[in-house]
Amino acid sequence: MKAYDGMYIDGAWRPAAGPDVIEVVNPADGQVIATVPAGTVEDVDAAVRAARAALPAWAATPSAERAARLAALRDVLVARQDEIAQTVTAELGAPLKLSQTVHAAVPIAVAGSYAELAATYPFEERTGNSTVLHEPVGVVGAITPWNYPLHQIVAKAAPALAAGCTIVVKPAEDTPLVARLLAEAVHEAGVPAGVFNLVTGLGPVAGQALAEHPGVDLVSFTGSTAVGRRIGAVAAAAVKKVALELGGKSANVILPGADLARAVNVGVANVMSNSGQTCSAWTRMLVHRDQYDEAVELAAAAAAKYGDRIGPLVNAKQQERVRGYIEKGVAEGARLVAGGPDAPREQGCFVSPTVFADVTPDMTIAQEEIFGPVLSVLRYEDEEDALRIANGTVYGLAGAVWAADEAQATAFARRMETGQVDINGGRFNPLAPFGGYKQSGVGRELGVHGLTEYLQTKSLQF
Ligand code: NAD
Repeated sequence: MKAYDGMYIDGAWRPAAGPDVIEVVNPADGQVIATVPAGTVEDVDAAVRAARAALPAWAATPSAERAARLAALRDVLVARQDEIAQTVTAELGAPLKLSQTVHAAVPIAVAGSYAELAATYPFEERTGNSTVLHEPVGVVGAITPWNYPLHQIVAKAAPALAAGCTIVVKPAEDTPLVARLLAEAVHEAGVPAGVFNLVTGLGPVAGQALAEHPGVDLVSFTGSTAVGRRIGAVAAAAVKKVALELGGKSANVILPGADLARAVNVGVANVMSNSGQTCSAWTRMLVHRDQYDEAVELAAAAAAKYGDRIGPLVNAKQQERVRGYIEKGVAEGARLVAGGPDAPREQGCFVSPTVFADVTPDMTIAQEEIFGPVLSVLRYEDEEDALRIANGTVYGLAGAVWAADEAQATAFARRMETGQVDINGGRFNPLAPFGGYKQSGVGRELGVHGLTEYLQTKSLQF
């Protein structure tokens, strides 16, 4: 057990204002692995002041130099990749292989992409007799969740720094250790003092203080819809810019003629990865009635194969929440074909990979975000019915379409009310904009669209 001290503010580890700490627990075995300070309003205020003081110089720093710092950050993350993976495994419980290939590798790719974008983005352009300047929005308050603990921070901090903004990060209370590691990496990369600041703490205390702080110009939040709504309201009252990445209930639509076995296997893997704690997971599989029974059988077999390879959920509260949803699915008449509500192990916050058949669109498990390894398989009559079901939730974050003919899948994807769709499996692209339609959020992350969230425009007429 390690007791970490201080918060990264103004380029140094400063003692916390108050005595309270947060315990970091490994959800695979329930052991307390560390404590970090629980930041207060004073800590947040100190961090925002540091970010404000650093803003003019960083905003005026040539974009080539900002790009060089981001490239250096990427290099430090590469050098510390194993340590990052081990840290995420310890505090999130993710299997080490997943921590290496996703939790550590994706932020490296994203930091690298913003090193390039900072170097190449036209921060000044001409239109007619005007020069348009793309200037940084200012001080960013970033509030992030635990599910991809490093990625969620880098997806905000890298474009913010590329744009010339300064930032205060409040990471999730369950996963503050990899956030501390990132602060060390930022320091090693030679990013000037005050440009990146980290305050660990509880959401309703440090998170709320950050969202409300008058020195913050943009609040960028990823997490639950309930908290996102509150943050949106707080930001609106102060006329601050806000970016919200919220929940999802994404549809995986398998059209007749698709490679059914592949579509089902990839679909199950997508849901079970990271123990289902992925906002863009394809948690509703939509199958034509003629292929439904075969798909259910394939899905149950694929889920059963996951068995012990799946990690725990992040904490006991999430485990209880997910088991509650599974019980609700049974109570509402869905048919369990894999997994179930019983804890599969005595120790740790594990939930069995679970598949429900005979799910109808009105059931709770077909409407609400479960955030666990739970797949609902729904039946559709024809393409119009599939589209109605796919679009029939308050969410619209991601999705998938499978068809024999790519053009047919693409035509269907164009009619989906969602921010990102993978065609016949797709492939992760760190430059593709990511974000939600409807209640899945406001704004986009990643690539050039993620960069422009942190810019505001000024035009000069000549
Ligand atoms: P949460 O929304 O409570 O936490 C996300 C972040 O917001 C954390 O850093 C937290 O400290 C902070 N926060 C909490 N209350 C706050 C407040 N009043 N003001 C400011 N900041 C605050 O999410 P959670 O409780 O950790 O997870 C609950 C559910 O949220 C999950 O089951 C899942 O459905 C959803 N979730 C979605 C994502 C996503 O990527 N979209 C990520 C994590 C969780």
